[in-house]
Amino acid sequence: MTVVSVSMPDDLVDRIDEFTEEHGYTGRSELLREASRNLLGEFEDKRLEGRELMGIVTVVFDYEGTAVEERMMQLRHEHEDIVASNFHSHVGDHNCMELFILEGSLEEISTFVGRIRATQDTTTVDYSVTPIDSGDLLE
Ligand SMILES: [Zn+2]
Repeated sequence: MTVVSVSMPDDLVDRIDEFTEEHGYTGRSELLREASRNLLGEFEDKRLEGRELMGIVTVVFDYEGTAVEERMMQLRHEHEDIVASNFHSHVGDHNCMELFILEGSLEEISTFVGRIRATQDTTTVDYSVTPIDSGDLLE
């Protein structure tokens, strides 16, 4: 195994340590290995490969995070071919919510979600993926 060093915010390290202890992991490494495998496997769903998909992505961020809003606009333009619709709303006292409705392949949608997740200073990123081709919609 290769040893890697990773930089992350202190509060994330605290949460990792807490989770590691509460769930009986042997240590941070074991937890991070499992988290990485889950993330990498997340878009390897055989039932969704090669199908026409709809993706719904919601991003919540502090309204003072103007850099996030700019980045959202940038991503919308860069992925214009799969962004079917985009909606911006204000939620709570000081949050912005960006909703993206996507149409594309699993690879296109996962690339988009990955880039959204890589955006600094977002509060939450959620998404769902549903087939919209002639196959079984609810499978
Ligand atoms: Zn806003």
